[in-house]
Amino acid sequence: MKAVAIASGGLDSTTMLYDMDDQEVEIIYVLGFNYGQKHMKELSFLGHTCEKLGLSHSIINLWSSGLTGLLSESGSSLVSDTNVPEGHYAEENMKSTVVPNRNMIMLSIAAGVAVAKNAETVWTGVHAGDHFVYPDCRPDFLSAANATIALGNQGFGPIVIQGENMIPQQVIYAPYLNETKADIALRALELDVPLSETWSCYQGGDMHCGRCGTCVERLEAIHEARERYYEDHDRKPPVDSTQYADKDFWRGVIANA
Ligand SMILES: [Zn+2]
Repeated sequence: MKAVAIASGGLDSTTMLYDMDDQEVEIIYVLGFNYGQKHMKELSFLGHTCEKLGLSHSIINLWSSGLTGLLSESGSSLVSDTNVPEGHYAEENMKSTVVPNRNMIMLSIAAGVAVAKNAETVWTGVHAGDHFVYPDCRPDFLSAANATIALGNQGFGPIVIQGENMIPQQVIYAPYLNETKADIALRALELDVPLSETWSCYQGGDMHCGRCGTCVERLEAIHEARERYYEDHDRKPPVDSTQYADKDFWRGVIANA
């Protein structure tokens, strides 16, 4: 199977790239997106991972196209215009980081690249934890987007004709759609993904801050995954060698949640 992968340099999509490699999916191309993030740190980590795995990749710049400027006028604010919330990754807290229709935009562009490069599939690292904040990361959306993209690009993935109906087959793969962040972190440990080569922090400092919503979510997920790894395999889990400015803040947040 040939694939175009959407990735960001974060924990989820980096794990997905290693997972695809493990499943012998042929990654034809990796696409990252600059949609006006507060910083470019994550995308520079993506570049590093692609280089390491020998993958071709491009960063699609939606920001300089002016598109994200238009989107920020719609009522939802962009990360770059907002003070990043601290603490737990709770719905109200993180709504300020939503870019409207972002996933549909990325999937559309990735599908175009996939058709052009003769790949049959598009892969995305969205997971269950995205569902409550991002409507376009939910299973019903992805299933509808799959049908739209398959029907709109004849020859892209198999379409089965049943009577007068054209039934689109799977072209969009979201392997973590029903998995939690901790499930993905466990997968990362099992695949020996170097966690320190992934970036999650909404702040763009020299190291992870340990205090923002995504840092807290990351630390909590890795902690749970390491415990589960130990239970499942009866040996010590790989160490998270990521550097955090504040290593323990998350524990207090979880205790108070
Ligand atoms: Zn952070």
